Amino acid sequence: AKKAVLGPLVGAVDQGTSSTRFLVFNSKTAELLSHHQVEIKQEFPREGWVEQDPKEILQSVYECIEKTCEKLGQLNIDISNIKAIGVSNQRETTVVWDKLTGEPLYNAVVWLDLRTQSTVENLSKRIPGNNNFVKSKTGLPLSTYFSAVKLRWLLDNVKKVQEAVEENRALFGTIDSWLIWSLTGGIHGGVHCTDVTNASRTMLFNIHSLEWDKELCEFFGIPMEILPNVRSSSEIYGLMKAGALEGVPISGCLGDQSAALVGQMCFQDGQAKNTYGTGCFLLCNTGHKCVFSEHGLLTTVAYKLGRDKPVYYALEGSVAIAGAVIRWLRDNLGIIKSSEEIEKLAKEVGTSYGCYFVPAFSGLYAPYWEPSARGIICGLTQFTNKCHIAFAALEAVCFQTREILDAMNRDCGIPLSHLQVDGGMTSNKILMQLQADILYIPVVKPSMPETTALGAAMAAGAAEGVGVWSLEPEDLSAVTMERFEPQINAEESEIRYSTWKKAVMKSIGWVT
Ligand code: ADP
Repeated sequence: AKKAVLGPLVGAVDQGTSSTRFLVFNSKTAELLSHHQVEIKQEFPREGWVEQDPKEILQSVYECIEKTCEKLGQLNIDISNIKAIGVSNQRETTVVWDKLTGEPLYNAVVWLDLRTQSTVENLSKRIPGNNNFVKSKTGLPLSTYFSAVKLRWLLDNVKKVQEAVEENRALFGTIDSWLIWSLTGGIHGGVHCTDVTNASRTMLFNIHSLEWDKELCEFFGIPMEILPNVRSSSEIYGLMKAGALEGVPISGCLGDQSAALVGQMCFQDGQAKNTYGTGCFLLCNTGHKCVFSEHGLLTTVAYKLGRDKPVYYALEGSVAIAGAVIRWLRDNLGIIKSSEEIEKLAKEVGTSYGCYFVPAFSGLYAPYWEPSARGIICGLTQFTNKCHIAFAALEAVCFQTREILDAMNRDCGIPLSHLQVDGGMTSNKILMQLQADILYIPVVKPSMPETTALGAAMAAGAAEGVGVWSLEPEDLSAVTMERFEPQINAEESEIRYSTWKKAVMKSIGWVT
C-alpha cells in the first residue's frame, strides 16, 4: 500500500510514575496518530520508601518508541516524517549514575518517597538567616518531596555514590536528564542537561536568576559539578543516538505538570489546569510574576519556550496521592483487578455512606505540608462494604482538589469559573461528575486526554531549528471538550466537604 502523505510529525515521551508512553502527533492538527504504553514497576523496599529502576524506565522508553513506530508502519505512515521528539517526565525523582559505565548507582528515589524525613528535620534546624531562605529562592517548602534532600540522602548513605563523586564519575539528574543523556548517546557523548521546569523542582535552583544556586548547594552539601546544564524547555538538546528514530532531534523538555499546562494551552495569566495521575496537580499560570502563596501552594517555573523567550511562572497545588489510591486498592487490597473497575464498584452504591478515606500515604502535601499524616479510613459501620470504600477513594481525590482550588482562589483573588482537567483518572466519569459536585463549578475535559504528551510535542516542534509547530492557540481551536456540570446542591456539597476536613484532622500527627 502507498504510504499516506502527512505534514511533519512530532513524537513525545511521557515518562510518568505509573507508566511510560510514546505518542506521535501531527504538528498541523495536533491529532494523535499512534502511541504505545508500558506500565512501570514501583518497589517499596521499606515502609515509606518508593523506588524505580532507572534502566527499566529507559528500556520502557525504547520499547514504546519501537512499538509506536511499528504501529505507524501498519498505518502506512512514514516514520521519517517525525521531525522532533519532546520529553515530559515525572518530576523530582532522583537518579545518580556513573558517566563512565552508564550504570545507575542506586535505584531512582521516587518523588513520593519518605525516607528523607529525618534529613529534612535536621536540615530545617540549620536553615541560615530567616526561615524563608529556601522558599524565597526556590518557591518550595523544605520537604521530602524535592530532589535536593533525596540527593543528600544518596550522598550520605550509598557508598557507590560517594565513591563516584570523589572520583568525578557521578552525574545527577531527574528522569528527564537521565533519559536525554542516555538517548543522546550515554557514555558515547550523551548530553547532560535538564530544563528550567525540572530544575525548579530540585530545590537547588534559583527561580529568579534561573541558575543553580551556590548558597543552596552549600546548604544541602551538593557538589555542583554533578548537576546537569539548565536549558530552556524548547531547544535542540541533542540527537537520538539509536533505534528507529536515530538522528531525530530531542528538542522539548518539560516536567509533566508544566507539559500539561502547555498542552491545555494555559498560556494566559490566570489560566489553570488540574491533572489526575498518580498524584493530583493544579497549576495556575501567573505570567512573568513569581507569586508567593499564603495558603500552602508552591511557586514554580511554568515554562520557558525557547532560549530567548521569557520565563512564565505558576502557582501549584500538589496532592501526593490520587490515582495511587486506586492502584493501592488494586495491588494491596485486591478489591479491584484493574483501575477501571473502581467505577463499577462506586456506581453500585453511588455514595460512600458516611465513609471517608484520607489517603495520606506519604504525609499530606498542599495545602497542609504535614509529614506526620498517614492514611485513614473512617466512618465505618457494619453496613460499609468495598463499594463504599471505592466511592470514598474517588471522593478523596475530589476533596483534595477542592482544598487546593480553595487555596488557589484565595491566593489569586479571582475564583476559577471552571476547572480544566486531564490525566489518566479523568477517563472515570463518576470521578468527573463527583468533582463538579464537590467544587460546585463545571469540570471541562479535552476529548484528547493526552495533554502532557501534547505539551512536550508542542515544545519540541516549536524549537528553533525545528519549527514545525506554531504555538498560536488558534491553530488548535478544533479541540473538543466534555463538560461536567454540578448536579447536587451547594449545601449538600458543603456538608460533605466539612466532614472530609474533620477526617483530615484525624490523619494528622499519626506518626511522630
Ligand atoms: P502518571 O502520569 O502519574 O503515571 P496517569 O496519568 O497515567 O499517571 O494515570 C494513572 C493513574 O490513574 C494510576 O494511578 C491509575 O490507578 C489511575 N487510573 C487509571 N484509570 C483509572 C480509572 N478509570 N479510574 C480511576 N483511576 C484510574
